[in-house]
Amino acid sequence: MSNTQDRRSFLAGVLASPWLAGAFRKSASAEEIRQRPTLDIHAHLFGLGDADTGCRISEAITDGKAFRILMEALYLRVPGMTVDERYEEVLVGQVKGSGLTKAAVLGQDAVYDRHGKVDWDRTSFYVPNDYIFIVAARHSEIMIPCPSINPNRADAIEELVRCREKGARLLKIHPPTQGVDVADLKHTKFFRCCSELDMIVLVHTGHEHSAPVIDKNLAAPHRLELALEQGCTVVACHAGTGWISDSPDQLPEFVSLLKRYPKLWGDTAVLGTAQRVRDVERLLENKELVCSRLLHGSDFPFPAAPGAFAARIGEAAANHIAAEANFLKRDFDLKEALGIGRVSAERGYELVLGGSTVRCSATSSAPAINPCGIILGRRSKRRNR
Ligand SMILES: [Zn+2]
Repeated sequence: MSNTQDRRSFLAGVLASPWLAGAFRKSASAEEIRQRPTLDIHAHLFGLGDADTGCRISEAITDGKAFRILMEALYLRVPGMTVDERYEEVLVGQVKGSGLTKAAVLGQDAVYDRHGKVDWDRTSFYVPNDYIFIVAARHSEIMIPCPSINPNRADAIEELVRCREKGARLLKIHPPTQGVDVADLKHTKFFRCCSELDMIVLVHTGHEHSAPVIDKNLAAPHRLELALEQGCTVVACHAGTGWISDSPDQLPEFVSLLKRYPKLWGDTAVLGTAQRVRDVERLLENKELVCSRLLHGSDFPFPAAPGAFAARIGEAAANHIAAEANFLKRDFDLKEALGIGRVSAERGYELVLGGSTVRCSATSSAPAINPCGIILGRRSKRRNR
């Protein structure tokens, strides 16, 4: 046998060996892991309404210190651009530099009176669904739309169907600022339709500190049971967390619901902030039940404070992460250091977009009938209030 043949047969033998095959499998799976797509399930689109976006924001928010700090930190006032245009530009830059594949951009519906009519006086901020769809369609490679539907609105089910038709896979409800009790039995049909349409329902839970609250008790996790009982996949935003000074303590309710409802998830939005350290520690205590059900969310534009977690992740790591200028990346890196980063973001992507080809369009092309029995198509071109 020649030297060349020797080498060939040696190589053939090595290539056929189970050890090398295993090694190739390992490196392929490591590559696969690196390429698994990730989602930030909770990034806010805000606006002042200065670019015909339809957004509104109350003086109670714009007069606040947090608003002024964010305007400066994100350089939202630049010559030649409206704040709404600039915010969109900043958000796009943040998502692209975050290391995440996509972000769900959240709308915010208004408050409605008992007749289902919009109540602007009690609405602290508003981001119309049509604006969400327009922005998400403009950046469909990095964004998906998460419209907001207050079930109290007279046309809640029609709006749900309209949003589903336009490609939304998830919607957001913010009970304490929208003044809606998601446990009210009058919303049974709404949630049944969400379930039939396979629309994931995000609901704010826990204590709210960034906008005026109508009733903090509306954020109690136990109120999610009505939607869960209708078969909905529900994401408890913020996982029922709060500050040490907040009362009542709503986190145990969220954990207790996780045991009973396999279609309940929690998102990690705002959990990177200093005041939530205690509750993050409590969530991390229960890896098997709780951590396996967390989905990555940033709550952009509210920035993470890695220094507050130095005792857990180490001072050097905290300082390194805190030096990151990109808010989304800083938050994602902190969550990764806490063990609820990439894996939670992959889980979120899989839950929302896995296996489906979700289209997102700014215009609607509707089928005639949906599972909830609503006749579609006639109102699809109207503006969303
Ligand atoms: Zn939020």
